[in-house]
Amino acid sequence: MDGNPLDLVLRRADALCRERGARLTPQRRQVLKILCAAGRPLGAYEILEAMREGARALAPPTVYRALDFLLAQGLVHKLESLHAFVGCNHPERPHCSQFLICADCGLVTELEDAAIARSLKSAAKESGFRPERRVVELIGTCADCAHKRH
Ligand SMILES: [Zn+2]
Ligand SMILES: [Zn+2]
Repeated sequence: MDGNPLDLVLRRADALCRERGARLTPQRRQVLKILCAAGRPLGAYEILEAMREGARALAPPTVYRALDFLLAQGLVHKLESLHAFVGCNHPERPHCSQFLICADCGLVTELEDAAIARSLKSAAKESGFRPERRVVELIGTCADCAHKRH
């Protein structure tokens, strides 16, 4: 692997968007960069703040539109319980993920358990429910934080 992980993520995002004919504009790219560099979930306002430190200040709608684009491309995920966003580390294929969120250190782990996705789908179907979005987030204590407590 050459280059640092952040460069790699951005280069992969560039390539993905090019492949799909989507435009990763400098602003969208910067939002993605801030999110991936943070290594933890960031709220829209934290992203705005981080962008203010850069050369150009952006209006909130610009950041929201950039986030919508990144969500649609699967480059980031939204954590509903935190009202925050995280970068995805495998955006090249569509996936149903679940998130483990540590309430102590803020660590977010993305899981991809197809069995969970399947069982939710069939449970919804049995109830005649038509899901539009699926949010699976567990909030608790990560292994490191649990270990430190003892
Ligand atoms: Zn993902
Ligand atoms: Zn933790």
